[in-house]
Amino acid sequence: MSTLRPSPITPTVDFERDGVQHGFLRLPYSRDDSAWGSVMIPVCVVRNGKGSTALLTGGNHGDEYEGPLALYEIARTLDPKQVSGTVIIVPAMNYPAFRAGTRTSPIDKGNMNRSFPGRPDGTVTEKIADYFQRELLPRADIVFDFHSGGKTLDFVPFCAAHTLPDKVQEKKAFAAVEAFSAPFSMRMTEIDAVGMYDTAAEEMGKVFVTTELGGGGTSRAETVRIARRGILNVLRHAGIVDGAVEKSRTQWLDMPSADCFAFAEDDGMIETMVDLGEPVEDGQVVARIHPVGRTGQAPQEIRARMSGLLAARHFPGLVKAGDCVSVLAVAVG
Ligand SMILES: [Zn+2]
Repeated sequence: MSTLRPSPITPTVDFERDGVQHGFLRLPYSRDDSAWGSVMIPVCVVRNGKGSTALLTGGNHGDEYEGPLALYEIARTLDPKQVSGTVIIVPAMNYPAFRAGTRTSPIDKGNMNRSFPGRPDGTVTEKIADYFQRELLPRADIVFDFHSGGKTLDFVPFCAAHTLPDKVQEKKAFAAVEAFSAPFSMRMTEIDAVGMYDTAAEEMGKVFVTTELGGGGTSRAETVRIARRGILNVLRHAGIVDGAVEKSRTQWLDMPSADCFAFAEDDGMIETMVDLGEPVEDGQVVARIHPVGRTGQAPQEIRARMSGLLAARHFPGLVKAGDCVSVLAVAVG
């Protein structure tokens, strides 16, 4: 374990210094157009004395925008006089993917959220993951990672945490979700949690909170407002930023089993039969996939395997076998 080489990433900021610093996590990356070049990942540190540390990230996937829109703004506007402790902001975690507007990195096709714990001697994406795993996560008390649906999914706006074996850790995470005050709050289940940043933070005992705030490879006025207000609420809730939490009503949702996910079994053109947030009965057709290679073919029906509401849907008009078509969730509380 201790034989891992040091991270090749050099921060241009000092995480122990008071005040506001705007700098970079500089990762050497030799390539055709820059022999001794680097990937320059923007980072902001706002620190005021001792206290808890929040680690805030967006752009874990490069085509999700509410997080970066909230975090570039908070980096620009947060006054250290409002802060007790430290806020570390990385608005575009997978920076090469963010610049390309793609989910995964154009350099190595790395999906940041499947690359943890990363490798100091791996690909560019693995090196970034390793830096978070060994240098940034250990500094943090609370870890907040923004997501949205990206180009291929769209979600009802929710803040989320996972059910955890450590119930004290779980309670702290759900309290932070409640403070975020998104229209929906989710007890989240993952399709496969291996390699996720979430899992890395949770296994380190951190309070980990995430979101899904929309999607389609863009953002909406409402979802950006939710993101900006919510992250300030979480920092206030944690006692890191002064001021009261601006609470609003949130509807808690649960993903009780893998039955909440539906996947396409054929290629085709998708027709959603239910819109986001609408109720769905067990057995109801939530989407139809129309074959397009010839006329006269019946569509494939995607039926709900549980009752609930539509929390997420496939976004583009065309669908491929294996694509996630819909995610259902159950309103609780
Ligand atoms: Zn994402």
